Amino acid sequence: MNRRQTIPKELRYTFNDFDRDFPNDDACLEQIKEQRFQGGITACEKCERPRKHYRVKGRTAYACETCGNHIYPLAGTIFEKSSTSLRIWFHAMYLMGSTRCGISAKQIQRETGVTYKTAWRMFTQIRKLMHEDVRLGGAESSGVEMDEMYHGGRRKNESGRMLRGNRGHLTTVMGVVERKGRIVARVAPELTITATNALVKEYVLPKTMIFTDEAGSYSSLQHIEMMDYEHRRINHSQKVYVAGEVHTNTIEGFWSLVKRGIGGVYHSVSAKYLQGYLDEYSFRYNRRDSGNLIFSALLEQVSEMASRRPALEA
Ligand SMILES: [Zn+2]
Repeated sequence: MNRRQTIPKELRYTFNDFDRDFPNDDACLEQIKEQRFQGGITACEKCERPRKHYRVKGRTAYACETCGNHIYPLAGTIFEKSSTSLRIWFHAMYLMGSTRCGISAKQIQRETGVTYKTAWRMFTQIRKLMHEDVRLGGAESSGVEMDEMYHGGRRKNESGRMLRGNRGHLTTVMGVVERKGRIVARVAPELTITATNALVKEYVLPKTMIFTDEAGSYSSLQHIEMMDYEHRRINHSQKVYVAGEVHTNTIEGFWSLVKRGIGGVYHSVSAKYLQGYLDEYSFRYNRRDSGNLIFSALLEQVSEMASRRPALEA
């Protein structure tokens, strides 16, 4: 079945739409300028008053028509120091945002015609746009599920027991997900009570109901100061997987998506790039109801991320 046909019309954004909206570098620069200066650049900080600005030919700059002061809308963005055309960047973002299960740097190279090195660089930078710090749950929510995943190598030892922590070449990933909501997944340096509690405090709102399995690293969630979490555990070792609302099926579903993705699109992912991969999957998961409008979300992230950085000198 062609999945594209299942995307509602208002959530579709085809390559033709993209091509019409962004035919060249100038159109892309205009877009970034509009995002960062809503309604255009209307004031000059040097003249300290409202001024018209015009586009400087051959540069990614706009200049004050009175004093000539330059404004660079790309300053602080992932495009700032790149010699690759803005249109190609946008194209790569379109590709990464419009396929359901991700696209590799190799595919970006093929589709855009850049070198593999450039494709890889764009790929990792675009993934940075997908790194989100969200806070989940809250007293009014239906709770969050928390669980860990092991990446790389064998997951069980000879006696069939699950290995804990980063033993051997396994990397641990911790995840928190809202039921019918958003997810956060982070590579965890270690699987201890301290590390787990720190992650929960950072990403889960106070008074949230947290569902986990019986692993020891979750044993002190309800004692985290000031957070007033409630905690329910499911006893996987007793082969119980669902007891009423107490289960971790949502997050386990996400882990299988991630594992299928690593096997299918990327073949393998080294520990170094695992966080980027998780960010990409989470970003897409958190927008699973927005059809292929993920490209617009990525565009918004460009200015969002740049505004979080200290202002750069032009
Ligand atoms: Zn001026």
